[in-house]
Amino acid sequence: MPRTACMVLALALGCSSSPTPPPPALAPVATGPDVLLVTIDTLRADRVGAYGDSLASTPQLDSLAARGVLFREAIAAAPLTLPSHASMLTGLYPLGHGMRDNGGLRLAAEVPTLASELSAAGYRTGAFVSAYVLDAAWGLDRGFDRYHAPFHPQEVADAHAFGELEVAGADTVNAALAWLRQSGDGPSFCWVHLYDPHTPWAEHPGWQGDPYRGEVAFADGLLGRLLAGVEDQALVIVTADHGEGLWEHGEREHGLLVTRATTRVPLVIRPPGGLEGHAAPPERPGDDRATRRPPGVDAELDLKPVPDAPRAARVVEIPVSGVDVPATIADYAGLSPWGDGVSLRPAIEGLPFERAPVYSETFFPRFHYGWSELAVVQQGRTRLRVGPELALIDLEADPSELELVAVTEHPLLAAALAWLGDASTSPAVLTAADAERLAALGYVEPIEPTAKARGALVDPRAKVEILARLHALEATSDPEAAVAGLQAIVRDEPELVDGRMALALALASAGRVAEALDATLAILERQPRHTMALSNAAALCRKLGRRELGIELAQRLQAVNPQDPRGYRVEITFWVDAEQPDEVVRVAEAGLAVEPEDPQLLYLYGLALIFLERYPQALEALDRAARAGSRAGDIQLYQGTAHDRLGQVDEAYAAYLAYSRTHPDDLRGVASSAWMLYKADDCARAGPLLVNMVERGHRSDPRIREAYQACVEP
Ligand SMILES: [Zn+2]
Repeated sequence: MPRTACMVLALALGCSSSPTPPPPALAPVATGPDVLLVTIDTLRADRVGAYGDSLASTPQLDSLAARGVLFREAIAAAPLTLPSHASMLTGLYPLGHGMRDNGGLRLAAEVPTLASELSAAGYRTGAFVSAYVLDAAWGLDRGFDRYHAPFHPQEVADAHAFGELEVAGADTVNAALAWLRQSGDGPSFCWVHLYDPHTPWAEHPGWQGDPYRGEVAFADGLLGRLLAGVEDQALVIVTADHGEGLWEHGEREHGLLVTRATTRVPLVIRPPGGLEGHAAPPERPGDDRATRRPPGVDAELDLKPVPDAPRAARVVEIPVSGVDVPATIADYAGLSPWGDGVSLRPAIEGLPFERAPVYSETFFPRFHYGWSELAVVQQGRTRLRVGPELALIDLEADPSELELVAVTEHPLLAAALAWLGDASTSPAVLTAADAERLAALGYVEPIEPTAKARGALVDPRAKVEILARLHALEATSDPEAAVAGLQAIVRDEPELVDGRMALALALASAGRVAEALDATLAILERQPRHTMALSNAAALCRKLGRRELGIELAQRLQAVNPQDPRGYRVEITFWVDAEQPDEVVRVAEAGLAVEPEDPQLLYLYGLALIFLERYPQALEALDRAARAGSRAGDIQLYQGTAHDRLGQVDEAYAAYLAYSRTHPDDLRGVASSAWMLYKADDCARAGPLLVNMVERGHRSDPRIREAYQACVEP
């Protein structure tokens, strides 16, 4: 049991059973070094200068390696952000921490975390993350005094794609530096996550021809600012959660396959005080075979293989894993290790070091496409790939893994199977709104889980080509061309839900709304509980004026998951269109029970309550909508209306005025204000408003004429 839990339990027992309360626990005094852990998302080891890339511009990471240890073969526990980070923060392979997919999951309370162990030992703990994939909602915040993940609920609701929701790396670094500068008791453990090398790739000056390397160079600059903020006596670890396919094996990004491209990451550790230079090992020849360019490949990416030529004060050849990060930090902090990892400190100090085989897996193909999960176990230069079939790779002869040798048995297999666990296990999906928020972001949702054994499922490698075609078509700006291509994909792969979903979206973009609805309903025939299809189909029904079917689909979504706010969000739009405030109120109240701060539900609720003359409740709802970040521009106008009807002239005047200031071309606030003040015999305040209106040519409204004659003309 983690120390913290023991402490809480002991205190609780002490309170109930002992007549004298136990003395207050003294905070332990940690004596370990400050620790800075930097994870650069999606950074391939071979795109770092210190690993041999002569085209890279990574001077910060390179100079860190010059005074530290470079792990030549560091393997991420998974080629996905959340599972891999969970491994680096718990010391467990995914089976142990349960986070086998990106989101929709929450770290179980009984899983020990590096941060909670360090915190219990007296460390100050701070985390600064740059992507919503690592939001506190998924539970990685446990043990951190400060968890900086500034994602506003409205931004989350508005984001087009899950992966796009990020904060600028510079802001993350600034927040971390400000926290590091705060003095506090005990040493600090600071984890900073930079997201820049992840897609979408931004263009950086000087990198027009090579956006991925440009993002890597940019992240390296941010790393430099961070490194300037920590003492030389700090333990500094820089690594990545996974690499990037860059079209090797046909994969542009990461998550589907467990290749070296996506699982081999940089790992550079500068121990307290740093190391002095050692000779670099001899250069290994690069793999100069041409990279296969599948359809849709980014034309501007430089995909030439990079020589494997590490330069560092010390280079460690033995494969190590992301799960070794906590054990290593624990070792320096004087704590006992736990979990699947080992301390790398002996290797850092040049002492004898051995490591059991390392492991990496992806369940993304099973959870999202119904294809087989994949795993690899690596020992030395041997990689065993576990999927529907076993395959062996000798990295010495074949560093790009192009010549897989089929095998039926291997000594490494037992380790792989132990870490894979029961392959039919579905991830423990969150039931709260957080899980559904992910799906609402356009993040691919798990399909109906299959309990089929690995051997009975398709090998994702056989499907890489079709996914590359799919992603290229999704990025096409010509909707008609996209429709034609996607229709072909749906013909070839009728069970590929993503293909049908992309086709429906392309049809909608092309203005072919009725066909888009048919394509979405075809998904529901196969996956009747597919929440995004239900939500999209209901929204399309609204465009087509098919109210009955739309409401039915929205209510089906509510039945599938009553915690999913989209069911209420889409149903309410039909009742707004139908001008039925009673129904609007009913649906809003059901939705707000799930998502109390949903800005759009609160706004529509407020409007409906005004219709129903329930003004105090309307004011409360509109206030909450504004606080929740509603983008509705006319909240103040309706707040004015509600105050007006309640006879609260000053409050109404203030709200109307505030609305008019932000909407100078809309005279509704001025007009309502003027009429209200005239009715309240307040010509002193009404007069200037009426003059303003008439000067702007608005004299046709009989109320304005009447008020003007009474207040201004005499
Ligand atoms: Zn990532």
